[in-house]
Order: sequence, then structure tokens, then C-alpha cells
Amino acid sequence: MPAGFLCADFNRLSLPIGHFDGSNPAQRAMMVHELTGIHKQNCLQCRKLPNRRVRRFIHTKRISMQLDRSIFKAYDIRGIVGKTLTEDVVRSVGEVLGTWAARKGIKTMCVGRDGRLSGPSLSAALMQGIVSAGVNVKDIGMQPTPVLYFATHHFGCGSGVAVTGSHNPSEYNGLKMMLGGLTLFGHEIAAIADAIEAGDVIKADAPGTIETVDVTPAYLEKICGNVKLARRMKVAVDCGNGVAGPLAARLFEGLGADIEPLYFEIDGNFPHHHPDPSKPANLNDLIRAVQAGDAELGLAFDGDADRLGVVTRSGNIIYPDRQMMLFAEDILKHHPGAQIIYDVKCTRALVPWIRERGGVPTISATGHSLVKARLRETGAPFAGEMSGHLFFNDGRWPGFDDGLYAAARLLEILSRSDNPSAVLDALPTAVNTPELHIEFAKEGENKAFIEKLRQAAKFDDAEDVILIDGLRVEFKDGFALARSSNTTPVAVIRVEGDTPEALERIKERFAAFILSVDPTVKLPF
Ligand SMILES: [Zn+2]
Repeated sequence: MPAGFLCADFNRLSLPIGHFDGSNPAQRAMMVHELTGIHKQNCLQCRKLPNRRVRRFIHTKRISMQLDRSIFKAYDIRGIVGKTLTEDVVRSVGEVLGTWAARKGIKTMCVGRDGRLSGPSLSAALMQGIVSAGVNVKDIGMQPTPVLYFATHHFGCGSGVAVTGSHNPSEYNGLKMMLGGLTLFGHEIAAIADAIEAGDVIKADAPGTIETVDVTPAYLEKICGNVKLARRMKVAVDCGNGVAGPLAARLFEGLGADIEPLYFEIDGNFPHHHPDPSKPANLNDLIRAVQAGDAELGLAFDGDADRLGVVTRSGNIIYPDRQMMLFAEDILKHHPGAQIIYDVKCTRALVPWIRERGGVPTISATGHSLVKARLRETGAPFAGEMSGHLFFNDGRWPGFDDGLYAAARLLEILSRSDNPSAVLDALPTAVNTPELHIEFAKEGENKAFIEKLRQAAKFDDAEDVILIDGLRVEFKDGFALARSSNTTPVAVIRVEGDTPEALERIKERFAAFILSVDPTVKLPF
């Protein structure tokens, strides 16, 4: 067996171990050759390579062997800590982002993290990667994702990364990334993986600096200096042990609202419930607290506080598409004739509501990066998604989604009424199914299925067939939606009717259509 001959450079490398322990020179040599696939004949060649280049080459090879491309999602990077999302992987992502920033002439990036236990080590690795490209980092510490967005505006760099697992279980973490004022998504996120595998990164001779900053005072001043409640209010607030707690307490105090706090302590194990207000079960404690006490309504935030949940004293959940009605009404008073953007999952009750208030309802594909891009294109003063991402772009706020800010604006509107829950309960609604899922075995099968539906879509009895994201068929008294999820291999179905009878009829109509395209599908309704 050729033991190989190792030059000094290779001997100094700290190599991944695998099933070798790396202490035996012969094993090391084999490992190096296995990894690099070069210099098999004569390791003396290695001496011609500068030490740093060899290191980077080995590092790149090691990363590309470990890189699980499934973590590169449509809107963010997300994986299981220590398995698919390791410090090495996150450091490499930082190197690529730092490199891209440097190439665009961006000198500073902001970094923040949510309350997860893996946050400190992953954000440290990320920052190491960014500064290695010569870009400076402003470390805002443990903060909600929207505060990171705020910091990128505050420091004028438009670039930053939130280390957050959002509402996912505690073993997950992830990265939401902005560069030059734009949120990275889709092919840009995939390109990060390509760059890691290709080792396409700059190593600056002088690394950037890391500065710890506290943007909380500026953030609170920006909101409380602008949003004014007409009277003092009392609200129950559930932070779900997510990162919002400490900041939320200060925000509501600054706004002049008394709170009944639930789960304000940051705890990355989420001992009470998942911090995800889009699931009704996670709002049970809040509803109980509102009904048992004297709070006028209940508010909930997701794990990184970019989404808002709302419940009333009668125990109703006011889903984001109905929250949007209040916001649209308020904003249209100051922006007559403006576009209001909503995604394809939202209730169609929004359409007449916006028109009657002098606005232009504009439907958009689902996905917070896509909606943000649409907001930028159109200059619309407001956009919202059924998932709970709400974007205020009306001159009072710079257009990013922030659950805490949305809560402040909601209280501003409701403080003008002496019965906020009644105002919320009275918002028009329709009868609809929740988000239903048709599951597929593999990523991609869901997209092919939706494509087949789109090809076959012929509805003589429909008023409109909207094809901007999957298929949304508008009937005279309801709609049916089928679209593929961008994050998991499922097709999402949602059906709505103006009455229970309309809902049933449209469900049957849509079921027959789906089965005519693919009789093997297991329908979720
Ligand atoms: Zn979130």
C-alpha cells in the first residue's frame, strides 16, 4: 500500500477525521489524497502550493463533503443543529456572504440571533466567516428578526443575517439573509451552496472587525415616537418563550398599554407551546387568559417576532387576512387609490373591502421574499400574507415585516374604539378550510402535480382562473386554491365559500377536478 509522502504543509493541517484518527502519517496521507484526488504520485508537489491555498482547498473539500443541500430553502437556510446545520457550514455561508458583500462594495453587515440555545455558537461562526472577507460586522446580539431588519436600515447598510429557526422546533436553526437592501431567496440561496462547493470566496489580508451594538433604544424610539394610542389599553400578550419577550415588555410600556404577559422568558426549549400563532392550538392559553381577565384582546408573536397572532374576548382568532382589513382601511385614508397587496391564500372578502375604501386590491404569489419584492416594484403602502407577514410601507415604516410593529399599529387603530374585540369580530369573513396538505414522497413531485392541474384547468363555471402561484379558481361565491409549497414536498389546498353551502359545493367541484387529473391522489378533504 503506498503510504505516500507528506510535505510539511499537509502535516500542519488539521484534517477531518472520519474513521481515521489522523495521527498516523500514512493514514493522513491516504486521507489527504482521498480528499484532494491530487498529488497521488508525489506529495513533494504540495510544497509548491502556498499554505493558505492548500488549507482553503482542503477546507472546501471537507465542506462540500458535509454540505447537505436540502438546508438551502426557498426563503432561508434551515437545518437541524449539529447534523445538517453545523458551525462549519454556517462559517462557510458567512464567508460567501462576506465575499458577495465585499464585491458589491458593502462595508458592513449586521448580525442578530433569536433565543435558541444554538444561537451564540452559530452566530459566532457566521461572523468569523463574514469578517474573513474583510467586511465589518455589527453584532446586535439576541433580538427579534425584525430588529435585525431595522438595524440594516438604521446603519444604512441594507445587509445582514438573522440566525433564527423562526417557529420551528428547538433542534432547528437557520439563517435569513439580506444583501444590499434585498432579501435573498430561491436561486440566490442555492448560489450560496454553489459558491461554498466551488470555494469561491475572498480571504482578505486584513479581516473585518466585530462591534457589539445595542439598537433597542433607536428601535423603540422609532415606533413609540410615531405610533400614538388614543387611550390607555389592556392587552394579553403571549411571546411563546420566543425572543420577543423583553423587548415586547418595553414596547407596550412605551406605547401606553398595560399587559398581561404570558411566557415572556426567553427559553429555547419552548416549554409551553410552539411559538407559532398560525396554529390555533398555540393560541389556547392566550384565549383563556383574555377571557379570564380584563384584557381587551390578545396578541401573540412567533419565535422570532416577525409574525402576529390576534384573538378576541369571544375566543375568535383573527387571522392575518382579516387583520389586513383594518390596516388597509387605516392606510387608505392617507393613501387614497393605493394598491394593497395580498397573497393567493387570503380570503376573497379582502377584494370588495379594499375597493369600497378606494384602494386597488393586488394579488401576489405567496412567500415573504416575493411579497417584499412586489412591494418594492409597486411602491404599495401595505402588503400582507396569510402566513402573518405584514409589511408597512406607508412612509411611517420602511416596508419590512415586523410582528411587534404590526401590534403597535393594531393598538393605535383599536384604541379609537371602546370595544376592540367587537371591532375585530365584526370584520367580514367567509367560511373556509384551513390550509390542507396533499403529501408527496419527494421534493419536486408536488410541483409536477400542480403543473398538471394548471394544464388541465378549464372551468366554464368560474369567474376567473388565476395562475400567478399554482392555481386559484374564483367562483361567484368562493374560491379554490392549489399551489405547491416552496419549503416542503406538499401541495397546499384551500377552499373558501361565502356560505357553508357554497364551501361544500366548491369543495366537491374541486375534488372532482383533481381526481380527473390524477385519480390516485389522496384528498385531504
Ligand atoms: Zn418568524
